[in-house]
Amino acid sequence: MERFVDGWNIVQTLGEGAFGEVKLLINEKTNDAVALKIVDLQRAGDAKDCVYKEERIHRMLHHPHIIKLLGKREESNVAYLFLEFASGGELFDKIEPDVGMHSGEAQKYMTQLLDGLEYLHRRGITHRDIKPENLLLDEENNLKISDFGMATIFRLKGRERQLDKRCGTLPYVAPEVLKGPYFAQPSDIWSCGIVFVAMLTGELPWNEPTTESPEFARWVKSTCITESLWKKLSTMAFSLARKILNPEPAKRLKLPEILGHTWMKVEFTLNEDVTDNVEQQCKRIALPRDTENKKEIPLLPSSQPTARVPYVDISSLTAVLTSNKNQISFSQPTQNDDLLLNSQISFTQSQLTQNQFKRLVKRMTRFTAKISQESTVLRVCKALDYFEYPWSIDPASIITVSTVDSGKLQLVFKISTIDMDDHVLVDFRLSKGCGIEFKRRFVKIKNSLTDIICRV
Ligand code: ATP
Ligand code: MG
Repeated sequence: MERFVDGWNIVQTLGEGAFGEVKLLINEKTNDAVALKIVDLQRAGDAKDCVYKEERIHRMLHHPHIIKLLGKREESNVAYLFLEFASGGELFDKIEPDVGMHSGEAQKYMTQLLDGLEYLHRRGITHRDIKPENLLLDEENNLKISDFGMATIFRLKGRERQLDKRCGTLPYVAPEVLKGPYFAQPSDIWSCGIVFVAMLTGELPWNEPTTESPEFARWVKSTCITESLWKKLSTMAFSLARKILNPEPAKRLKLPEILGHTWMKVEFTLNEDVTDNVEQQCKRIALPRDTENKKEIPLLPSSQPTARVPYVDISSLTAVLTSNKNQISFSQPTQNDDLLLNSQISFTQSQLTQNQFKRLVKRMTRFTAKISQESTVLRVCKALDYFEYPWSIDPASIITVSTVDSGKLQLVFKISTIDMDDHVLVDFRLSKGCGIEFKRRFVKIKNSLTDIICRV
């Protein structure tokens, strides 16, 4: 465990981004939890400007479906953004590769996403990088829009401007963004449409919305209807997808129209057995499509050097979880001025409840093994060799897999093992590349290790 400042410890890495890492900070006395986004200001020439802009925009935003920015601190060449901790992880983790999720769940997330987006647009702000990795969940699985690194103001004092900076993530980006200039609102709405399709199918429809992509070309010509991806959607969902993903921005549905669409109003029975539903959906898929990987459009540098901040072992936290649960005291929040020496933003706190503690170990890209830590590492390495994924291992036994996906784009992920006394936690974390591709590989590796995996 690493000490951040007196009383606050870094207990876990929550994610990696283009400029640095996001860590979980816990207050020793109160167990308050805060997400800490660490930005290396030297990593790219414009990192400083980017983080200032991110802060300026993010601090204006106060909405139940937008993650809160609690403060900022800067030291020499590092900026720290303190964020409300989303203990439910990424929406991404709710999407099962090639399957998606239950329609009722997707409808809930879609409503919350559009609600948050409506607020943003009303304030004249566009997000420009809406994707499931930037949509986080709180303890009650409520969606929170996050990562304002590419956000900008498109309307000021009632005057709207067109934008021309090509930014976002290619599979989610609207076609007009690549042609520029473009209007902000329809382009964010397009990205929500891709999130909608990803939630219901577990696939991304194309790598990029250009003629380079045969899938996109068929979508534009409306000759895609027989494709396995689109066949996974009900008629109603398909009709909504067609209207949101209209290549002509002026004809694309607007937010109130999406909210008024029949699919958004259907009452899906949420208690319907999701597994059955998933199985039914699986049966309808002829052959899962091996979608090529996704490129980031370089607003931020696409090369992501290995993390500068040392990996933080979560064993201290899991020890609390497994052996010491009843002794955790959850006191009332105290002052946190020590954390935010240079901050001008008042600090609101979130308390880490026992449930949240449990959720920390509930990520989808994990499993537990019933053999020793050493044997687990060996078996994982063997599986990587079998699938011909190049890997390396460091002295702390963290395996880094560095491969390319079917679209020849870089895919890097890390596998760490944590000894939990009676079992071993095997944790997969994406470092660079497409999340869906990463998950497919996770599932492949996991399926090849069923004999050592503990059944829940
Ligand atoms: P990128 O440019 O790659 O999108 P970034 O550098 O802008 O990333 P974020 O998207 O803000 O960084 O964060 C990276 C990841 O860290 C997220 O995808 C998420 O998994 C995790 N994360 C970020 N903020 C939080 C938070 N408040 N609570 C929990 N996890 C978080
Ligand atoms: Mg992000």
